[in-house]
Amino acid sequence: MSFSATILTLYPEMFPGLLGASLSGDALSRGLWSLEVRNIRDHGIGRHRTVDDTPAGGGVGMVLRCDVLASAIDAAAPADDPRPRILMSPRGRPLRQSRVREFAAGPGLVVVCGRFEGVDERVIAGRNLEEVSIGDFVLSGGEPAAMVLIDACVRLIPGVMGKEASGQAESFEGNLLEHPHYTRPREWEGRSIPDILLGGNHALIERWRREEAEMLTRARRPDLLSPPPRDP
Ligand code: SAH
Repeated sequence: MSFSATILTLYPEMFPGLLGASLSGDALSRGLWSLEVRNIRDHGIGRHRTVDDTPAGGGVGMVLRCDVLASAIDAAAPADDPRPRILMSPRGRPLRQSRVREFAAGPGLVVVCGRFEGVDERVIAGRNLEEVSIGDFVLSGGEPAAMVLIDACVRLIPGVMGKEASGQAESFEGNLLEHPHYTRPREWEGRSIPDILLGGNHALIERWRREEAEMLTRARRPDLLSPPPRDP
């Protein structure tokens, strides 16, 4: 079974969007993963297919109804669907490459995209949703976040990347940022490619890359060198 993604959204027209182009798009047309997009509004209430209401206790904005969302989730993923159910949410655990690897090795994901002020808290527990954040900032909706999550997973599916190796020495693998890259021309605006990369000594090149990666990580992301406990 290949990786299968189901997206629940109020804006199905946003998909496949960037997932339909380049690496993920090619892989989609080659059948290495599949994408199903479902409109939450199909489960809306009444003639107007209402999906949201005002927050209990008052305040600005609207909240996605738990009953509407639950019926959308139930229609998309029966109770025995083995795929993790994700709610894109700035309150969620920040997404890391280690979790992306786990997702990519699994059967796929069911991803709920929030809108407005968010979703009624009860559906999160009632449908066992794992909240995932893509960073400490607030988007207007979960759709761009869902695309980020799926993109990160899809590129790790075997056969998606041209060279399997290109997934190995990247940023965050081994808790390091990646070393710098260079290509032609050899000289550009007075800046040259480091000699060591042109010398052909692969052991030296490896050592240089490792040292650069460590230096960059210490300077920019010292937090990676003392990582928090792994995701469950
Ligand atoms: N009022 C909420 C923000 C709602 S933003 C709060 O303060 O926490 C609307 C929707 O966008 C959210 O329900 C979520 O699905 C999505 N979203 C916004 N920022 C996000 C982030 N950093 N990561 C993942 N999803 C996000």
